[in-house]
Amino acid sequence: MSTTNDGTRAVRAGLPAPEQYEPTLPGPVFAAHFHLSGKPVGPYTYGRDTNPTWTHLERAISELEAPGRQVETTVFASGMAAVSAVLLSRSRAGDVVVLPDDGYQALPLVREQLEAYGVHVRTAPTGGDAQLRALDGAKLLWLETPSNPGLDVCDVRRLVDAAHGAGTLVAVDNTLATPLGQRPLELGADFSVASDTKAMTGHGDILLGHVTCGDPQLAAGVRRWRKVVGAIPGPMEAWLAHRSLATLQLRVDRQCATALALAEALAGRADVTGLRYPGLPDDPSHPVAVRQMRRFGSVVSFVLDGKETAERFLEALELVDDATSFGSVRSTAERRARWGGDAVPEGFIRFSVGAEDPEDLLADVMKALDRATAG
Ligand SMILES: *Cc1c(COP(=O)(O)O)cnc(C)c1O
Repeated sequence: MSTTNDGTRAVRAGLPAPEQYEPTLPGPVFAAHFHLSGKPVGPYTYGRDTNPTWTHLERAISELEAPGRQVETTVFASGMAAVSAVLLSRSRAGDVVVLPDDGYQALPLVREQLEAYGVHVRTAPTGGDAQLRALDGAKLLWLETPSNPGLDVCDVRRLVDAAHGAGTLVAVDNTLATPLGQRPLELGADFSVASDTKAMTGHGDILLGHVTCGDPQLAAGVRRWRKVVGAIPGPMEAWLAHRSLATLQLRVDRQCATALALAEALAGRADVTGLRYPGLPDDPSHPVAVRQMRRFGSVVSFVLDGKETAERFLEALELVDDATSFGSVRSTAERRARWGGDAVPEGFIRFSVGAEDPEDLLADVMKALDRATAG
């Protein structure tokens, strides 16, 4: 069935054709090996190569990433397994790879690994499409938009056009937006990559990742890498992820609406600076974001006056867990500088909006701010 509506697509994505007395979403298949006599041809032979629970989830994610198009998804044990599958499998000694300098925390580690293999890595900021200026002779361009945690946005189509014109492949880390917020393959990218640990599965209880490609040859390279490194998700995680996708639209619609309401409320406060949310009309990211995004995500970032104020704020919150990660139905917030690594002020807060009632969440945040900044 084809539909253009996200909620309908999310609840039905990846379901097998109805079969009498079978469950609508078949349960997890726990198998290291499958019955297999004679010539060893698939679909199911050995559990590191294929698993029917992955197949259902991979079809579901493909439907969300590129509705109505023939694309291929490979699921991984974590977001970093998916990120590494593209960056490490595509790069050879002497190649040039362009990364954002404000992307996910573990990218500098990937950079070290690439450089250890003789790959030349260039970096540039996400904002202002600055990676355009680093493209010369590059084999692969890695985008992360909106970037985490700074929430800058780059123009994917513009970067893709420039990259493809020079024979450079483009991958987009789509973790923050989810496919309901932005579809990188439709914007021309070769790989859409995500940590499904975040909003995609949305409950803060599993790690998972995926890579989706339109080109079967690129997809085959990603699958081969998964087989080689064995970075496979367990069937239970894959099944839980598929189950979670059914509520993706409900969750992200609520989270995005509340994130905007929170950003608007924070915009009116004198004790909050550096406020960023791509959905805010006067955010520097907004003009590009409205052109390529359909939802602006659940993460709002802002700066409080120093480490102590930020810590008092986190302490005073009652409905928001002080925890890293984002995209969960339960709101979380953290003082990002506690990790080191990101170029952010000591009082920088990354706030992930959950599915609580917006009036409760906003009241909790305002009360905590009042307490943290009083006196
Ligand atoms: C969390 C995250 C990752 C890594 O995902 P894991 O599931 O933790 O391995 C990659 N990219 C972005 C943007 C992330 O937020």
